[in-house]
Amino acid sequence: MARVLGLQCIRCGAPYPAAHYARDCPACAPTVRANLTIVYDESLRRRRPKPTSAASRGLWRYGDVLPVAEEDGVSLGEGGSQLHHLSRSGRSIKLRNLFAKDETRNPTWSFKDRLACMAVSSGKQLGAKVIVSSSSGNAGAAAAAYAARAGMPCVVFTFKGTAGPMLTQMRSYGAKVVAVENKPDRWRFMEYAVRKFDWFPTSPFFGPVIGSNPFGIEGYKTLAYEVVEQLGWKVPDWCILPVCYGDALVGMWRGFEDMMAFGWTDRMPRMVAAEVYGSIGAALADGSDAPPDMPRAFDTVAVSIGATQGTYQALDIVRRSKGAALKISNEDMMYWQGSLASEEGLYVEPSSAAGLAAAEQLAKSGHLGVDETVVSLLTASGLKDPAATAKWQSELVTVPSNLEDAIAVLTAAEIFPGN
Ligand SMILES: [Zn+2]
Repeated sequence: MARVLGLQCIRCGAPYPAAHYARDCPACAPTVRANLTIVYDESLRRRRPKPTSAASRGLWRYGDVLPVAEEDGVSLGEGGSQLHHLSRSGRSIKLRNLFAKDETRNPTWSFKDRLACMAVSSGKQLGAKVIVSSSSGNAGAAAAAYAARAGMPCVVFTFKGTAGPMLTQMRSYGAKVVAVENKPDRWRFMEYAVRKFDWFPTSPFFGPVIGSNPFGIEGYKTLAYEVVEQLGWKVPDWCILPVCYGDALVGMWRGFEDMMAFGWTDRMPRMVAAEVYGSIGAALADGSDAPPDMPRAFDTVAVSIGATQGTYQALDIVRRSKGAALKISNEDMMYWQGSLASEEGLYVEPSSAAGLAAAEQLAKSGHLGVDETVVSLLTASGLKDPAATAKWQSELVTVPSNLEDAIAVLTAAEIFPGN
């Protein structure tokens, strides 16, 4: 199998040992904080056959392409999610080949299971004793579930205001959940624990954020393999992702690079970041190498992607792929959350709908051609934060028990047809 040789800086390529996962690149740090990435031996990117119908579904379907072998993996049946053709949504924004990768069907109902599976499995191999994550919800829930599956203790640093269902979910898996008063505090507390107690971080754990655990990010490569196979081994023209720190965008890009080397594909897609505060977009506009920290100009409905600063590597890939970064408003996110549910039967978290809002903007501005293939990543289930949806819904119709009065109410509400 492809063997992990170590790590290297994603920006300057400087090599580091595998145990350096809990740091960034010291050589780049004075200019831009940059994450590290896994280096495999040369067998990884040799030409290889496509998986046959006999291959398993999910993360390990594509062979020895991950830092952990299937038999050593901590698994809950992650990956292998559906790719839906969105015919009605596509028609409404003049895109014939609009697709959604439905990550809500993962074991903890979000795409973070791909990351948590790889990170916790790698942590176990590296001898980690405690899993630690910082999270507004999805990453923490995934880390907690996979730690439970591995029989390892887990601590999650979250903050006041985290959606109730996600808080309950994290605690149900047995994680010790801590809510900090001020968001930046979590970096100080987590960094202390990682350095002092050698806890294994699956998420970012110091600021400014450089991205998540490099072993975990490898799990996102499988998103690219699955999408290409589901499209009949065709590369989509565009991939649109809701972006917080851009870990999935970076991992997915690495998957597309792999497939070129495997001989499965012959081109790369363009990558789009759907953001809340526009950090990557600002860096693209001014040609800078480091996404700026943007003002928190309003409260977002999309807590999962509510970061004010993007990462170097997400910016680099959006730029190199000739992609785009778009700011998405609360109104557009909630419109698309409602539309995906009522028009396509897909109830997703507000942040998950950001990709569709970005597709609409790009279609209107003429950047997306009507026949181009566009894949939007639906990152997590709407049931993670139903209160966010409820706030935007109309009042529930209630009826009295008297039939005549009920008919009057139901007719006025246009549920019963009028005369
Ligand atoms: Zn570097």
